[in-house]
Amino acid sequence: YGPDDGLLVLQNVTKRFGGLTAVDDLSFAVEEGEILGFIGPNGAGKSTTFNCVTGVYPPTAGTVHYDGEDVTGTAAHGMVKRGLARTFQSFRPLEDRSVLDNVALALTPDRLFSLSGFRGGLREQARAICERVGLGDRTELSPSELPHAGLLRLELARALATDPDLLLIDEPFAGLSGGEVEDVSGLLTELREEGLTLVVVDHNMRGLLSLIDRAIVIRFGSKLASGTPEEIRANEEVQEAYLGG
Ligand code: ADP
Ligand code: MG
Repeated sequence: YGPDDGLLVLQNVTKRFGGLTAVDDLSFAVEEGEILGFIGPNGAGKSTTFNCVTGVYPPTAGTVHYDGEDVTGTAAHGMVKRGLARTFQSFRPLEDRSVLDNVALALTPDRLFSLSGFRGGLREQARAICERVGLGDRTELSPSELPHAGLLRLELARALATDPDLLLIDEPFAGLSGGEVEDVSGLLTELREEGLTLVVVDHNMRGLLSLIDRAIVIRFGSKLASGTPEEIRANEEVQEAYLGG
């Protein structure tokens, strides 16, 4: 497939750290409007793939196209401006700001501005986003007062504050209970219905196959399988990799 065959298209992306090849000649496309699962065991290269796409560092080789444009090596703020947002596996809220302020600060492209300089409109927008992710009654708390699932919602809110078209979510289900996985899956499904394209990363398939339209499974930085949840479930190589059988 070519660079126009998806909203985000990776072609032959490789990332090396010294002698270690974390991502190895990986190609796949994210289609507009889908929820794509990006699955692989710990250390398979999932976060590194995201980091190459979102401008944390450039790939060692290969190309990344976004909306038909070559964005290989584009810095993080450039990717955010184009409409690509991400959440991190480890949450990084500003601990000395309220939940609302954390979201309001993500709304502005220049985080150096003080909150006192904001017009009411931004706080209203931030409040609406907090309500959207289920934090409407906790806007005045400190992030440190939120449980793990609340911090994930805050991380999603901060990503939504950049008004993305494509949202990459790194391991949202880690540390969540079964009920919380269902709640977050429901939220992600709603976001997709509102027009967002989503990539959801996970190291296992728990809760994921019921959420996604399609999945890419990687191992040792390379693609092991891709297809619908049914195809992934039935794939013998995937079964061997996950069940050791
Ligand atoms: P995953 O997200 O699938 O668990 P990662 O992408 O975090 O895997 O890591 C893939 C491999 O790359 C691992 O072996 C990891 O130790 C290595 N790695 C990741 N980031 C770095 C880095 N900044 N420097 C060196 N090695 C790294
Ligand atoms: Mg990771």
